[in-house]
Order: sequence, then structure tokens, then C-alpha cells
Amino acid sequence: MDTFEIVKYPSSILRKKAKEVKHISAEQREILDRMARTMYENEAVGVAAEQVNLDIKLIVIDARDKHGLLKLVNPEIIEKEGMEYMNEQCLSCPGVAVRVPRASKVKVRAKNERGEDVTFEVDGLLARIFQHEIDHLNGRIIIDYLNPIKKIFVYFRFYLKNLFKRR
Ligand code: ZN
Repeated sequence: MDTFEIVKYPSSILRKKAKEVKHISAEQREILDRMARTMYENEAVGVAAEQVNLDIKLIVIDARDKHGLLKLVNPEIIEKEGMEYMNEQCLSCPGVAVRVPRASKVKVRAKNERGEDVTFEVDGLLARIFQHEIDHLNGRIIIDYLNPIKKIFVYFRFYLKNLFKRR
């Protein structure tokens, strides 16, 4: 089955603000399916469209909990509560773990792949994944939560890795 290649930091697509999806058609559903396969292939809990080189508001999430696989269009956080720190990783920043502050509870509004309105009120891991993936749609990644010195260090690590790869 077909999957996408994951875009890695510091690719500029990861900094783009994703565009609203106006019509949900077979094309978007196919992208969501392919994103889901990409997520499972990489043993990840979420993938945002930017990570597969598309600047549109699509995310897939599977926290391996009762919610199962979520394929969502135009997701947005409409309420937040509390705050907690936890280490996060990202397929686009391999080898980097960042302690990221996130709201402990969130309310998210989105459309499902049939274009129906859906809302989620979640906490714990799922709340964190929602915030991580919606961050991607806003051009924000976990590296942005590092202190400035570490940020420079990580940037050069990826920059050099890319230079080496091109040769
Ligand atoms: Zn990520």
C-alpha cells in the first residue's frame, strides 16, 4: 500500500500555515488514508499534512485508545484547560526529544472525512497529540519549544546531516 515520505526539519514546508479545506472530496479522503498508512508504517501516533509536503488542514491521529483512528479536516482547538510538561518526539525531527508544555485538557472542533462536524473533549495523551498536530498546521514544531542555545545546536545538526546526504 502506498505511503508518503516524511518531510524532515528544516524543510520550509514545516513552517507554512496550512490552508482550510473547502470541499472534502475523494481526493482528500485518499490523502487521509495515505497519511494514516504513513503514520502506522512509522509507528507514530499522529501525522499532519505538512509532514507529507501538503499545506492543507488535514491530520490523522491514533493514540491506540478507544477513539481509534481519527482522520480530521480543519481541526481547531476551541478550549484549553490546565498545563503539563512532557517529552515529545516528531517524525520530522528524528532523534530529538523536547519537553513541551501543553494544556492538559482541550476541546477540538473539526470535520470528519464525510464533512460532518465533530467535537472532542479529551485529556492526557490524546489532548497532547491534538495540540502537537494542530501546531504543525500552524507552522510550529517541537524545536520551537527548545531554549535558543539548544535550538541552534539542533538546527546545525540537521543542516549538516542534509549537507552530507546531498553528496
Ligand atoms: Zn510532529
